[in-house]
This record gives sequence, C-alpha cells and structure tokens, in this order.
Amino acid sequence: MVRPGPTGEVGPVGVLALQGDFREHLSLLASLGVAAIPVRLPSQLEQVSALVVPGGESTTISLLLESSGLLGPLRERLRLGLPTLGTCAGMILLAEEVLDGRPDQHCLGAIDISVRRNAFGRQRESFEADLAVDGLRAPLHAVFIRAPVVERVGDGVEVLASVVLPDGGEKPVVCRQGNVLVCSFHPELAGDPRLHEAFLGLVPEKLSADKETAEKLSADKERPDKERPDKERPDKERTGNVRAL
Ligand code: GLN
Repeated sequence: MVRPGPTGEVGPVGVLALQGDFREHLSLLASLGVAAIPVRLPSQLEQVSALVVPGGESTTISLLLESSGLLGPLRERLRLGLPTLGTCAGMILLAEEVLDGRPDQHCLGAIDISVRRNAFGRQRESFEADLAVDGLRAPLHAVFIRAPVVERVGDGVEVLASVVLPDGGEKPVVCRQGNVLVCSFHPELAGDPRLHEAFLGLVPEKLSADKETAEKLSADKERPDKERPDKERPDKERTGNVRAL
C-alpha cells in the first residue's frame, strides 16, 4: 500500500518518458484529474507512487534505461512493489522473458509472463479491435501497433483479455499480477480511460485528484525528495483488484 509521506500527501503517478507515447499517457491521466509527472531521472522516479511504462520501441527504451541511470533504481522500485501499468513496449519491458527481442534487451521481470514481440505479422501489424476485458462492463476499443502477445503465463498471473491470432491461436493481451497490469495495445490512444482507471484502482491510497496540482506537476518541475515509508511495505500489500471496477 502506498502510504502518505510526512506531510500527508501521496506522490504523483510517473510516466516513463524516455521514448514513445508518454505524452498521451500524461494527458490522459491529467484528464482524469490525477497528478502525473514524466520520469526521466532517478530523482523523479523516487517521487512517484505508481508508474506507467508506455508504448514505443522496447529495445530503444531498454538502452535509454541504461544511459539515464534508471535501470537499477527502477528494478528496485518494482521489486518493492511499485504499482505499474505497461502498455505495448511497456509490457515487453516489464515481462520476465522476451521472445524475438534483441539479445541485449533488458527484462525487468515485474510480471511472470513471456512476451513475443511483433507477434501479428506484416498483414496485421497495426489494427483495431473491440476487446472483452474481464472487469470492464463494455468492450474496450484497442489500438494494436506492431503489438506483442503473451506466449506464457506464470502462476499468479491473471489473463483479463485475449485475441485470436491470424493462425487461429488465442493469446492473452491483458494480464495482471498483483498491482502490475500490462496490455499489448495502446489504451491511451483510443479515448477510453477505463484501463487507466482500472490501474489506478490497484493503487490503494487515492492519488491526488487535484487538477491544479496535476498541472503544476506536469510542467516537469523538480520536487524535493521526500521520505518514502512505502519502501518498507510488505509484499502482501501489493495486491489489488481490477475486477472491482
Ligand atoms: N514492437 C515494439 C517493440 O518491440 C512495440 C510497439 C509499440 O509499443 N507500439 O518495442
């Protein structure tokens, strides 16, 4: 559980902003009234209570995680239970194993799945579909762009949505383990905030819903470091529930 800092506030949601469509995630979160900041530096990662890893190019983001100095601190925050949403390339980065990846690309191992990159082949490299997602009442319009699929799901991983591939096989495209939620597509591009809302439902303490704060933080300002009691939180507090939404 994310506990408030010494002055009672909870940190903003971070959006990893090294490459890809992080701006779309930032504006979607702002439209929900959630304070969100871009994360490019370890000092920014320290401030956040939850993280979005956006779509883009997983091999490039992997290289930039190294050069920015974020790789080690991000692994540590994930190990300590940072609530995280990974979309498309973000799902690839958060997986335990990547198939058809670059040999030197990093796996953050935040969710026990094996993900195959660019799994839809040339004909359907990019397409849109209305997906039935467990926990959402109406189908979610999903934009797939050179999207990955999940080839293996570990114990403790819940499959919330699947698609049928051109070869007829059914593969998961939305999965959750504890407070890590991943999807193969781009929920930030379809004008439907329900997957983000489901993710925010996995963050036990309410994040700041103050629009003014959201705008101030989105201006990419540095904030002084705060004490982070959430570092000590036990693993059993990592669970959340998408189905509740
Ligand atoms: N194919 C990309 C990759 O491997 C992901 C595409 C996306 O994020 N839209 O990183």
